[in-house]
Amino acid sequence: MTHIAFIGLGNMGGPMALNLVAKGFSVAAFDLSAEALARLQTAGARAASSALDAVQGASVVISMLPAGKHVQALYLGEQGLFASLPKGTLVIDCSTIAASDARKVAEAAAAAGLRMLDAPVSGGTAGAAAGTLTFIVGGAEADLAEARPLLETMGKNIFHAGGNGAGQTAKICNNMLLGILMAGTAEALALGVKNGLDPKVLSDIMSKSSGRNWALELYNPWPGVMDTAPASRGYSGGFMTALMLKDLGLAETTALDSHAATPLGTLARNLYESHAAAGHGQLDFSSILQYFHPQD
Ligand code: NAD
Repeated sequence: MTHIAFIGLGNMGGPMALNLVAKGFSVAAFDLSAEALARLQTAGARAASSALDAVQGASVVISMLPAGKHVQALYLGEQGLFASLPKGTLVIDCSTIAASDARKVAEAAAAAGLRMLDAPVSGGTAGAAAGTLTFIVGGAEADLAEARPLLETMGKNIFHAGGNGAGQTAKICNNMLLGILMAGTAEALALGVKNGLDPKVLSDIMSKSSGRNWALELYNPWPGVMDTAPASRGYSGGFMTALMLKDLGLAETTALDSHAATPLGTLARNLYESHAAAGHGQLDFSSILQYFHPQD
């Protein structure tokens, strides 16, 4: 049986790890949050006391952490896991981080005799819970082949983007587009409502017209239009504005480094920056609606 160490049990990692447990994999889980850890333990995972404890006996390590600094702190340096993992261990980092950070971590993994994939995901918390995520993978083809049964337990589309870091580059392009689409969707809905339209009726119309997009159809930012969307539960439990801001910052850095023009990505980053500065950083990113339609 494959023994998996799963580190980072937040909005995404929690449901991803639960799916592995539900499919019968042996999972040792760790998170800094006792509450998140308890949810996994109740479902049948071993609750580890530290990341180092979680990896004991594991042949695969999966991490789902907020940002590059957390991933580097987990794996690199004298206290990092790479110093103690047995040679040949497969390490899959699903966090969204800079491609340059992913390559740095992969190089350190190779130097320690380990195998590393960057495998950021798309599909949101609903996709994580339903096991329908899209995995965008960078790394060696043979390592992806070995990881595939695990990824297929948590997702339905698995893409090989290229070598180490390529998964992150593709993910950043996707999330820059998502940030732009969500802001545009919120702007259009706010315009319609200001002019007397019902947000649900307008959403139905645009979903069947040329403005249709994922933010509108599956993650509608207007409260009450879609029961399952974070907007209908006070913008909680989804993809935090602070994380979208991180991703738009990564896109901007990538654009600067490669001399690419990304004016819409930059504008979207500024919108989310203002929104976060107004105190909404911990709310789901679809709360950008409040920038166009301030609440009382
Ligand atoms: P989150 O903040 O809900 O979860 C992160 C978890 O990591 C927290 O539970 C935190 O306690 C834990 N953590 C932090 N440092 C740790 C450490 N050293 N050891 C153990 N646990 C630690 O974030 P999330 O929404 O689950 O996002 C995770 C990653 O997935 C991010 O990179 C994000 O950009 C990406 N992502 C999120 C979504 C989404 O819809 N939420 C979608 C796609 C990708």
